[in-house]
Amino acid sequence: HDVGDTLLKQVAARLSGHVRSADLISRQGGDEFIIVMGRLSATSPALRLAEELLAACTESFLIEGDQVYLSASIGISFYPQDGGSTAELLKAADQAMYEAKDSGRNCFHCFTQEMQEKAVKRMQLIRDLHIAYQLKQFQLYYQPIVSLQSGAITKAEALIRWNHPEQGLVPPAEFIPALEDTKLITQVGGWVLQDGRDSIQKLKDTYGSEFQLSINVSPVQFADTEQGLHQWLKQLREQGIEGNSIVIEITEGLLMETSEESLSTLLNFRDAGIQVALDDFGTGYSSLAYIQQYDIDYLKIDREFVKNLPESEDSKILCESIIAMAHQLGIKVIAEGIETDEQRKALVEMGCDYGQGYYFSKPVPLDEFLNQKQAR
Ligand code: C2E
Ligand code: MG
Ligand code: MG
Repeated sequence: HDVGDTLLKQVAARLSGHVRSADLISRQGGDEFIIVMGRLSATSPALRLAEELLAACTESFLIEGDQVYLSASIGISFYPQDGGSTAELLKAADQAMYEAKDSGRNCFHCFTQEMQEKAVKRMQLIRDLHIAYQLKQFQLYYQPIVSLQSGAITKAEALIRWNHPEQGLVPPAEFIPALEDTKLITQVGGWVLQDGRDSIQKLKDTYGSEFQLSINVSPVQFADTEQGLHQWLKQLREQGIEGNSIVIEITEGLLMETSEESLSTLLNFRDAGIQVALDDFGTGYSSLAYIQQYDIDYLKIDREFVKNLPESEDSKILCESIIAMAHQLGIKVIAEGIETDEQRKALVEMGCDYGQGYYFSKPVPLDEFLNQKQAR
């Protein structure tokens, strides 16, 4: 802390050397800085100033004989166009700072009207998501996962949908990030796990006792200290559902996480006999060491690598290599996003174990998924 305080004093001294007394600079925490600019004749000197400030932050500092480097995200608002009160100006600068943060480190952003609109939309989204959870507007859809060798449906992935009263069916990409940011995902994800669990018996009755349901679990759920996941595991046991009828899909980000809690929860899942699939493989960090350490059962090759099969030689090489590596480690491979018979054939030839994609079926509601089997 002492070193940090010394560093902050130096930063403050550097920054205040660049601004006028009518301007305000504040450090919000971490590497977050906001600047509220007093009345200016034009905004261009302010932009030059922001660049100077960023440079002032990122140039090395000398602390107790060591060179120290900083990153900074700077948000800027202007009086009077961005607000007439201190509260409005600070809020605007704060929104600009988050925009800067989102664009990566060492960035500055000036407040814009679009940011305001984006912030309002986001607030509405979050409010609607709370309502959606209370009014049970979420629904699980099921997409078959097919054994590529036999063509049989042996698993399904549960995918959440939001039946929005005005907008219709909203895809998860539009609301999962907001659920994660607000931690509401622990509740909604808890519902996903329960609802998925409640359909397992029906799925097994229709598709056979070996059938597995694959459920996406967010890293935020793993970090939840309320232990919702532990309770769910307990309920599974009480209901006599075997762990091996469930696969949880995690992303590489979770394995990169250092939190002991998250990783021990993952191991608890393993102990309960639940299998683990690494989702979207190849799009994240792909730290291969973790695959070994956590005993992953399935790798899911991301659609990105499948979509250009069989034409793209590069995609072919990448898929083949992933499959070969996984198999050597005793891991099965599921290819995502198979849309054509050519893609399916190419993956069969490569020895890929399972496939999932619109070629077989889009995600459908439970009843439809169960009826598909009867229709076959
Ligand atoms: P994911 O887990 O990688 O799921 C696969 C996505 O690919 C699904 O999108 C699925 O509808 C889509 N897909 C499947 N086959 C094809 C195909 O042939 N072509 C194309 N273009 N797309 C295909 P969806 O349902 O929109 O879900 C998007 C992502 O949202 C999921 O990616 C997953 O990361 C997340 N998600 C979905 N449901 C849940 C959930 O219950 N909990 C959490 N935490 N995340 C979820
Ligand atoms: Mg998934
Ligand atoms: Mg995926």
